[in-house]
Amino acid sequence: MARTVSEWIGKTDDHRAPPRVRQRIFDDCGGKCHICGVVIVGKKWALDHLTALINGGENRQSNLKPVHITCHAVKTAADVAEKAKVAKVRGKHIGAIRPKQSIKSAPKPEKPAPKPMPPRRSLFKEISAS
Ligand SMILES: [Zn+2]
Repeated sequence: MARTVSEWIGKTDDHRAPPRVRQRIFDDCGGKCHICGVVIVGKKWALDHLTALINGGENRQSNLKPVHITCHAVKTAADVAEKAKVAKVRGKHIGAIRPKQSIKSAPKPEKPAPKPMPPRRSLFKEISAS
């Protein structure tokens, strides 16, 4: 029986997992891509953070899975898009991003047609000369 090994945790987010840890993760997953489930053949694979570092994931063994390079690129793009969406919503929520347009009010109801003017009166009385 193999002895138990404590989980590897990167000292920083940039710290790359050492080869023995990469091999351990690869073997734990049966050499299959975590995203598409196909067996990884050759050297074209990478370790993917299940919860991306930019989305608050940790650089530790339990958050790493082997994936194909091509599958990894697709997931990374999705993670970046998610991060951008979260940042935009949060920015609007805290007021860091202001709305580009003012909120439009409801259209005003149409004004009724103006009342017809009363007939004109003359200002002076006409005096009949008789
Ligand atoms: Zn894959």
